[in-house]
Amino acid sequence: MTQQFVSLFLQQNKRAQVGIVVCGVLIFLLLMQRISGPLPWAWLASLVLVSGLRFALTQRLVQAGSAPLRTAAGLLLLTGICLMLPVLAFAVFTDVDRAFVTIVLLTTATASVATTSGYGGLFLWFAAPVLLPLSLAWILAAPEGASTWAMWGMGGLIPIYLAFLVALGRDLFRVFDESCRIRYAERSLNDRLALALEATEQASQAKTRFLAAASHDLRQPLHTIGLLTATLGLRQLDARSREMVLMLGTVNQALSGQLDGLLDVSKLDAGIVKPDMQIHRIEQIVAEHGVAMQAVAQERGLYIRTHGDAQVLVLTDIVLMRRLLGNLTGNALKFTHHGGIDVFVSAADGMAVIEVADTGIGIAPEHQRLIFQEFYQVGNSERDRHSGLGLGLSIVQRLCALLGIALSLASVPGQGSRFTLRLPRVDAPHQAALQGPGPTQSSPAQLDVMVVDDEMDVRQAMRFGLEELGCRVWLADGVAQARDMAQARHIDMVISDFRLRGQENGLEAVREVCALHPKAYALLVSGDTAPDRLQQALAAGISLLHKPVALQELADHVQQAKSTR
Ligand code: ADP
Repeated sequence: MTQQFVSLFLQQNKRAQVGIVVCGVLIFLLLMQRISGPLPWAWLASLVLVSGLRFALTQRLVQAGSAPLRTAAGLLLLTGICLMLPVLAFAVFTDVDRAFVTIVLLTTATASVATTSGYGGLFLWFAAPVLLPLSLAWILAAPEGASTWAMWGMGGLIPIYLAFLVALGRDLFRVFDESCRIRYAERSLNDRLALALEATEQASQAKTRFLAAASHDLRQPLHTIGLLTATLGLRQLDARSREMVLMLGTVNQALSGQLDGLLDVSKLDAGIVKPDMQIHRIEQIVAEHGVAMQAVAQERGLYIRTHGDAQVLVLTDIVLMRRLLGNLTGNALKFTHHGGIDVFVSAADGMAVIEVADTGIGIAPEHQRLIFQEFYQVGNSERDRHSGLGLGLSIVQRLCALLGIALSLASVPGQGSRFTLRLPRVDAPHQAALQGPGPTQSSPAQLDVMVVDDEMDVRQAMRFGLEELGCRVWLADGVAQARDMAQARHIDMVISDFRLRGQENGLEAVREVCALHPKAYALLVSGDTAPDRLQQALAAGISLLHKPVALQELADHVQQAKSTR
């Protein structure tokens, strides 16, 4: 508190000195008319000197002194005594002179309350030496023939005014004290908030790093298992082995799906998902989606029905929209045990409205906001624990933000949930048809493919898969080996892991091979989901596949490599 006052006092000090010198000059002009000789000049000089000293020294004295308040009081006393000296000449003043001096001195005393904020009655060190002699002067230096009553009245009123200033100072100090406290509390709250924010940001970064590392480490073996399982599936097997291979494939796919959720979040956060906005008939997308989900719904003994207004056109990215619908209907199927799901498409107030309504377990109000957070799942014992990491709705939320969709939820526990999407309608009369890419027709390829990966298991699995696709495969464990091999033979396609041993990365390996075989088709494969790494690959303009890579994905790229050869 003292510290706050000191800084305020120092701030006001400069302004107060200017005020005192101005008042001094006014009184000096009066003295010049009433007193001849050097006295008025001497007084003005001493006042200016004291004010100048106060102006120059206060900061140093107050800040350096161990008792800043005592120093401030001393300086105020000195100024007060100096300013009061003209009162000694009261006897030679006319009535108007006296009134003038009185007003000036009362003004400075009043101002001193404000400049000291009434702190500890400090202003009295200035106001008392100014006003009390003034009061005495009115009583003792009464002019000839003046009314004694009036002189005593003036002399008495001045101390009363001083008492009034004391009360005013007390009130002012209370306000000052309160505002200091509020400011202090606000500042400490801000500091705490800043610290909490920093901690949250650090935790979030740590989480991203952890997820990227964990996902990378999990993707490596999963990638190998996936490729080996798919390759095995292409071979002649007895019925029992085929069944086991199928099961392996299903489990692998479920795991891959979960890791893909992490990847989607990273990609969306990294801002590298660029929507391809086209005009679409939203009812058509929804109807197709309904058909695609039919089998899953039937398997669970549920229905899925779509209802739509065929005239509703929207500008959207069809792939992302399907992903969004997939997450919502997937959840609806997961958390519904009786009845089923209705998806409605309608138009209202220039907006297209899509509603995904289920008759499932519902979501309690206290969870309705939280379920959009990453990894948040309602601790419901009825829940299907076999799938989902709690990322589905956070992906939905990010996709909605990307596609300009307003998302809302209404749900009653035990009765079901309704997720509503609202997006602007467009009026486009033509070409609102969907064009989905047809399934890739693979034909045996005779390509020379180089695989660069620092993990032997992954290299071998890739070899098995690619050989099954009819390629000749060359394996390299790093950039140097890739270069040596590329010098020795023709290469049609190079597939490199993004993160190689040491400081090497797949971009270097691809560049080395492509420098020797400019027409080679390049592909990067990565287990990393860290946003910066995704951006790096995007900037290099090379296709990037994410581990675990499905054999079909490899087959598609082999096919493309073949067609561009
Ligand atoms: P996940 O489905 O992987 O658990 P989501 O982010 O998709 O993760 O959903 C988070 C949680 O929200 C779910 O675990 C579930 O508790 C709740 N939830 C989402 N959709 C529904 C729904 N249609 N009905 C009931 N609960 C739901």
